[in-house]
Amino acid sequence: MDRRAALEVNGRSYRWMREPLVVVCVDGCENAYIDEAVRAGAAPWFARTRDKGSAFIADCVVPSFTNPNNLSIVSGAPPSVHGICGNYFYDPDSGQEVMMNDPRYLRAGTILAAFADAGASVVVVTAKDKLRTLLGHKLKGLCISAEKADPDMLELTGMALPSVYSAELSEFVFAAGVKLIERRRPDLMYLSTTDYVQHKAAPGSAAANAFYAMMDRYLAQLEAAGAAIALTADHGMNDKHGADGAPNVIYLQDMLDAWLGTGAARVILPITDPYVVHHGALGSFATAYLPKGADARAIAARIAALPGIDESLLRAEACARFELPEDRMGDLVLVSRRDTVIGTSRARHDLSGLDAPLRSHGGISEQRVPLVFNRRVEVEAGRRLRNFDAFDLALNCVT
Ligand SMILES: [Zn+2]
Repeated sequence: MDRRAALEVNGRSYRWMREPLVVVCVDGCENAYIDEAVRAGAAPWFARTRDKGSAFIADCVVPSFTNPNNLSIVSGAPPSVHGICGNYFYDPDSGQEVMMNDPRYLRAGTILAAFADAGASVVVVTAKDKLRTLLGHKLKGLCISAEKADPDMLELTGMALPSVYSAELSEFVFAAGVKLIERRRPDLMYLSTTDYVQHKAAPGSAAANAFYAMMDRYLAQLEAAGAAIALTADHGMNDKHGADGAPNVIYLQDMLDAWLGTGAARVILPITDPYVVHHGALGSFATAYLPKGADARAIAARIAALPGIDESLLRAEACARFELPEDRMGDLVLVSRRDTVIGTSRARHDLSGLDAPLRSHGGISEQRVPLVFNRRVEVEAGRRLRNFDAFDLALNCVT
């Protein structure tokens, strides 16, 4: 392969790949899933790679949700740069609550598109279609989802079209990745799964170990096909329920309605998306828009005193700390603790689809994620690693 000049993307420099690079984002991959699968003997590739390659713990972006983190990984930058800070946000210009899965909300280019523009062949496979248009923005390459796989891809993988709520949706991503690396030998591939299994099954459970064993087999095949692999996660995952199995929920809209008058404040849950069966739109992060003239600091202090709240911050301090775009966050930013989620009004959450005790994410408690390479990677001591350093380490720091 020819060695081209390094590329500059969002203020960072990336060396041209020396071998095909596959960057994998395992949705909801709490570190304990890998630990437990390795311990059970279900994940020989992970066991070997953590030993012979390089394995780190990195911080994802808070809110620890799927879209902000996938976009951070592929742009090498936090949401303050690329603009995607949730699945869902309140657009004060239009007065509407809208899905943020349209590329018009994206404020930065991706590493994927930059390499494709420079002549690299690039392939992206995602589980859910909601991410496809964001990841594929301005990308001159193949960008497909398992959810909307076409007949050619079904034939290539030999799989039936998977349900959006299934382990197979993620398996399809890997099956397609293996076939495409064998057939096309792309320079760069990005694979992104879905966290359906992690929302249902705790680390070490039979379902979780089976899922990690499945991924492990495909990762070994990608490696056998000659790929350098960088694997990270968009966020972790924790139990958000009590001993009785009922979710621990702070219904913040109900509280603000009681304090300020019904509908005076507006609570936005950026986890909200059309796929609510596995989490009921309940996560550990919320933002609130307050009525004009409200004493934001006093309300923040009142929320901070609620049991289960981890952080209750004013917009400016939250955006500085979590690297978020100020124009897309409310007056307050709220993060709940490891075992607690934040809801809007009790009446607005349909929890009938939850067929297992709630596991979810969104908070600081889901920020620690794996960052694993099947090559030796060297980083300077004391560096705070982020999941969005995956491309940097894979391209610039392999020894
Ligand atoms: Zn996710």
